[in-house]
Amino acid sequence: THFGFRDVPESQKASMVREVFDTVASKYDLMNDLMSGGIHRLWKDTFINELKPRPGMKLLDVAGGTGDIAFRFLKNGGGSVTVCDINYEMLHVGRDRAVDHGLLKNINWTVGDAQKLPLPDHSVDAYTIAFGIRNVTRIIEALSEAYRVLRPGGKFQCLEFSKVVVPGFDKLYDTYSFKLLPEIGRFIAGNREAYQYLAESIRQFPDQETFASMIRDAGFERVKYRNLSGGIAAIHSGWRI
Ligand code: SAM
Repeated sequence: THFGFRDVPESQKASMVREVFDTVASKYDLMNDLMSGGIHRLWKDTFINELKPRPGMKLLDVAGGTGDIAFRFLKNGGGSVTVCDINYEMLHVGRDRAVDHGLLKNINWTVGDAQKLPLPDHSVDAYTIAFGIRNVTRIIEALSEAYRVLRPGGKFQCLEFSKVVVPGFDKLYDTYSFKLLPEIGRFIAGNREAYQYLAESIRQFPDQETFASMIRDAGFERVKYRNLSGGIAAIHSGWRI
């Protein structure tokens, strides 16, 4: 299979993304650790700190996959969380992990599309999406759905790969993503193409400022972002007023 991303028509992107996560689901967590040297854990910790979970707070974690954000939210004092993901396999791995963490209560696992969320208007206090929005075919639709389901006063937060802002480091990072990373993918997950897709989807994604404008255009206020690890990743946030 060829996961070349640039030339794929929009109509095929969704099924391609599904195929990628179907094939990597069981190795997903291990791969994250290997590829990032464990740093994705620190980014996710920072992300949850910034969300400031509190008892009774209701979170919707979109593209929640195997539950990393949901578990951190509950362990840091959050109320309840709905994990929504388009891929059943990823959620299934997540549910097994929840058992291991002793965290079955207050988590709801729901199959659904970020572009058409299976939730009513104004139904959550916070919306998060971590390393997910890059995979969505129509980002603007996902942002307007986020706005719709948030209650007034609710917070939007996104963690995503972004544009490296440190001169010199960007070249090194490119070499890593396009040469080394697909090889790690081949070796561990037996799927070089899926990780080639990963590198390409990161390069395609809008930079910090552009993405911030898209969030503003969806209606959010006080939009800001913060770079992590020199811009390898960034946290964007905004409020529905
Ligand atoms: N949030 C988790 C984390 O940080 O470890 C998982 C991130 S994983 C890289 C991306 C997830 O996005 C996959 O589980 C995939 O199934 C999901 N996804 C892709 N397109 C989606 C869509 N349109 N709606 C909901 N989830 C989607």
